Amino acid sequence: MCDVMMLSLGRWSAVRRVGKKSVLVVTATHTTNTATGGYTPSQLQKMDVPQPKILKTPLDVPSKLLMGPGPSNSPLRVHYAMMKPLLGHLHPEFTKIMDDIKEGLRYMFQTQSTVVCCVSGTGHAGMETTICNLLEPSDVILVAQNGIWGERAADMARRHEADVRVIEKAAGDVFTAAEIEAGIVKHRPAVVFVVQGESSTGALQPLEGLGELCHKHGAVLAVDCVASLGGVPFYMDTWGVDVVYTGTQKVLSAPPSMAPIAFSARAMERVKARKKPIRSFYSDITWLANYWGCDGTPRKYHHTGPVSSVYALREALSIACEEGLESLWSRHQSCAQRLYNGLEELGLKLFISDPTKRTPTVTTIRVPDTVNWMRVTKYFMEKYRVEISGGLGPSAGQVWRVGLMGYNCTLDNVDLVLKIMKEALSEEEKLNSKL
Ligand SMILES: *Cc1c(COP(=O)(O)O)cnc(C)c1O
Repeated sequence: MCDVMMLSLGRWSAVRRVGKKSVLVVTATHTTNTATGGYTPSQLQKMDVPQPKILKTPLDVPSKLLMGPGPSNSPLRVHYAMMKPLLGHLHPEFTKIMDDIKEGLRYMFQTQSTVVCCVSGTGHAGMETTICNLLEPSDVILVAQNGIWGERAADMARRHEADVRVIEKAAGDVFTAAEIEAGIVKHRPAVVFVVQGESSTGALQPLEGLGELCHKHGAVLAVDCVASLGGVPFYMDTWGVDVVYTGTQKVLSAPPSMAPIAFSARAMERVKARKKPIRSFYSDITWLANYWGCDGTPRKYHHTGPVSSVYALREALSIACEEGLESLWSRHQSCAQRLYNGLEELGLKLFISDPTKRTPTVTTIRVPDTVNWMRVTKYFMEKYRVEISGGLGPSAGQVWRVGLMGYNCTLDNVDLVLKIMKEALSEEEKLNSKL
């Protein structure tokens, strides 16, 4: 029987008797107890940086509808998944969850490849992993550049001292297979890089047959699917894609945190044939593949996986797989069509006139000459807490970008965006008539 326990919790702790029970009352637990430990005043220096007052106020996050090119909102199921208890990053219960994710990603990428995993980091981390594993200094990479993502890939490849060759198309346009083949014949690259959904312009690059074309000329094909995977058809194996990556916060509607990525056997052979080690330890696909249980050898500690984000992705994939790719693809198509129709009814023009060249996941709308694009995006946010964005890179100042991704891709959200756009445009008209 232990009636009273002495605990050194600080001088404000007290043991009170309530009836027959002893109750420990803790009013302040973080005071220094010189008798039982802690630093003596003479051991402590004067602190120039006091405890920040701001952190005593509670975290305040407004609820917004994110209809830009990412991130998209996550369903509650995904948020709840992140509340599950933390596990160690190599506990069997956790590695089982990683295995489930690999199954989900194989379905989403439509691949039977063994190297399917995630980089801990956002879409850019997927891009950097692709570049730094496939290229050694002076290797030639051909970048099909029609927006900011091709520019970024070229920039990264230059930092890795690759020999970067670029073929270019105007913003909003896409490459034909013949144009890409002409580039390959001219530049003889080891790696060809294309972007499926160019979210800076809204363009959708056709990929069918590109893998075969690259392989015929001894190159591997790398594809950025960050803004498109899950929203439009993608078949890694059938299309002969060698490396593909995406991001968790776009169509998958999980929080930004990871970049799902897959390497084909051909891409892995290229990695194994490197003369020099991969220059980034963190992005080394052979390490990542081991940690994700893709190489048939016991998992080793590479880095601590983002445990709660992994739960979130597991839940997001389970939602996507429940719905099925065919339904996901057609939902994105029909919502985008409703958006196109509504925008045209408002007298607005789309940045890309050929509908077959548009990705349904990101719609780019031309800003009329008489309209201040930023005032319109502000109207969306200030009056409705709805995000739409302006242009990026080659489309900056010329367009608005509306994202229809995953959880947010609904007819109701399309109608809401159209309603707000109508209001915002009439506000602009009022301002113009006052001038
Ligand atoms: C958003 C995006 C990225 C970058 O993703 P982050 O998660 O912001 O790092 C890369 N490529 C495309 C096509 C994107 O839309």
